[in-house]
Amino acid sequence: MTIGVWILGDQLSATQAALQSCDRANTAVILIESLAHVRVRPYHRQKLVLVWSAMRHFAEELRAAHWQVTYVPAADDFVPVLDEWIRSHHLTELRVMQPADRPFARFIQTLQLPCSVTIIPNNQFLWSDSEFRQWASHRKRLLLEDFYREGRKRFGVLMQDGQPIGGVWNLDKENRKPPKQGLHPPQPLWIEPDAITQAVMEQVRQLDMPLYGNLEPFRWAVTRQQALQLLTDFINHRLPTFGPYEDAMVTGQDTLWHSLLSPYLNLGLLHPLEVIQAIEQAFTDRNLPLNSVEGCIRQVLGWREYMRGLYAYVDDDYPQRNWFNHHHPLPDFFWTGDTEMNCLRQVLDQVQRTGYAHHIQRLMILSNFALIAGISPQALENWFHAAFIDAYDWVMQPNVIGMGQFADGGILASKPYAASANYINTMSDYCKGCVYSPKARTGSNACPFNIFYWDFLIRHRAALTSQGRMSMILKNIDRFTLDEIVTIRQQAADWHHRLSTVQSIKSMLSDSAKTL
Ligand code: FAD
Ligand code: SF4
Repeated sequence: MTIGVWILGDQLSATQAALQSCDRANTAVILIESLAHVRVRPYHRQKLVLVWSAMRHFAEELRAAHWQVTYVPAADDFVPVLDEWIRSHHLTELRVMQPADRPFARFIQTLQLPCSVTIIPNNQFLWSDSEFRQWASHRKRLLLEDFYREGRKRFGVLMQDGQPIGGVWNLDKENRKPPKQGLHPPQPLWIEPDAITQAVMEQVRQLDMPLYGNLEPFRWAVTRQQALQLLTDFINHRLPTFGPYEDAMVTGQDTLWHSLLSPYLNLGLLHPLEVIQAIEQAFTDRNLPLNSVEGCIRQVLGWREYMRGLYAYVDDDYPQRNWFNHHHPLPDFFWTGDTEMNCLRQVLDQVQRTGYAHHIQRLMILSNFALIAGISPQALENWFHAAFIDAYDWVMQPNVIGMGQFADGGILASKPYAASANYINTMSDYCKGCVYSPKARTGSNACPFNIFYWDFLIRHRAALTSQGRMSMILKNIDRFTLDEIVTIRQQAADWHHRLSTVQSIKSMLSDSAKTL
């Protein structure tokens, strides 16, 4: 036996390219369950359970399919483990599918191992890095809409005689309904933990290192079969109404009509093309509303592929970009959920309980607050990475640094996703249960989203003027009196003072608790 395949924790597919390139009778396979990354930053407890349980289940499935599999937990540096396995199996070549994350791809290239290493192109995305580069290289602006249309044509999705089905590419306008009356979405199917998952949960419970979020209830799928079950459940029960309330946020409704498929797509348990084709098939068979079907396909074929392509395309300094020069520290309440701002409290509580929030909660509550309050994009990205069940470098960088914080200066988004309480009050019921007034811009009960929003526009007015789509909004500032501007700026400064005082009191208390 001379060839070995090293399967990474987010490459859990029997059709992944490195496995596919080998003959199972003469190939050794290794999966390494590493603790090293948990030492670098805290993770959501359910994310650790999800990844490790899915890896253990996948190893079992490969064994059942007659692959020769070694599964090793590595408490510290995993390189000696890999080295030893290569020597003991007398391997002459190690094959690894190209990691989706750039830092890890670079790290693999620096490894000194006792055999040659072959990187096999990643087949878990629809667009390869070079195909995206080719699409992007002759364009002035890398617009999602153009990329998405190209994808529809290239993969023949929702197309008829070269034209989009229904005659239009985009039905977003039908998909922004506010939750005026109570919404009653069907509850998603959840999976109860089996013996393997329970063993991993016990291991995570015993870990003596800083972690985030609740361990239980853990109800995520951990095998491909379970993920397919959840895909079918989504298509049967939530896809028909996915569109209209895609942007709505409702207290106590964590998932609404969203698919909850990102963890499985990102682990390799589901392939994006099979998800898209299953949705399209349901459209054909059951005559589902086009706005829901197109809205969902746009997320997977458009946004997801665009984010991955862009991540691979941008310069190495992308993660460090900070176009607005924002440097405030991340408020402590992002970790504790302890804030009187009801929208933030609801969403942060949900993330702690589940590791999940849907797109608009991530973009227009969590990220929006950080943007208008001038928080460091890198501190925010670090928190997102720690807090979410589906977080990986490739998807986090463009979503947080690019889309959420506009820290790339507009490579990705055509204007910053900044909003006042008006948006949140329209698209959610959060403001009804809040101590602050969404209507007030100044005064003791004024919503901090209003104060920070106007302060953000005032502070960055010069820079934002160059962003064409901002000019209408900036004109509002011209109508403010000087007194109003001074008050807004003062209130924003007071809020920053309040946030940093809470932070320093908390760290003082925890320091004194440590010394007791
Ligand atoms: P649905 O609303 O049902 O959408 C279907 C699928 O489309 C998702 O499962 C996902 O695979 C894909 N998708 C939709 N939008 C995006 C997008 N912008 N980028 C990539 N894929 C997309 N997504 C992650 O997978 N991991 C992350 O760590 C992550 N962090 C985010 C951070 C911020 C600040 C923002 C604004 C977005 C982030 N997203 C991330 C994108 C998106 O919010 C999630 O993919 C989505 O909410 C997952 O829930 P769902 O499966 O129910 O999605
Ligand atoms: Fe959030 Fe402001 Fe509404 Fe309160 S009033 S829920 S802080 S937007």
